[in-house]
Amino acid sequence: MTWPSCLTLKPRRRPAAAEPSLTACPDCGRDMDLIEKTTMTGSDRRTYRCEHCGEEHVVNFGPALWKILSDAREADDKREKQNG
Ligand SMILES: [Zn+2]
Repeated sequence: MTWPSCLTLKPRRRPAAAEPSLTACPDCGRDMDLIEKTTMTGSDRRTYRCEHCGEEHVVNFGPALWKILSDAREADDKREKQNG
C-alpha cells in the first residue's frame, strides 16, 4: 500500500551551516569563549571572546528571563484589576 505523498512527513533538518551560531565569531566563524553575562538591562547580553581574532563580541540573546517573567506578571495584574 502506498500512502499519499502529503502523509509522508520527512523531518526537516536544516544543515548546521545554514544557521549561524550566536556563539560563533562573526569574523572567523569559530566558537568563542563566554567571558561575561549580564541581564541588568532586561536583555540577556553576553560577552564572548574569540581566541583566534583576539577580539570580544557582545551577543544579545534577547529579553532576559526575569524581564519576561516580570512582564508576564504585570500583564496578569492588569487583567486581575480589570476583572474587579
Ligand atoms: Zn574570530
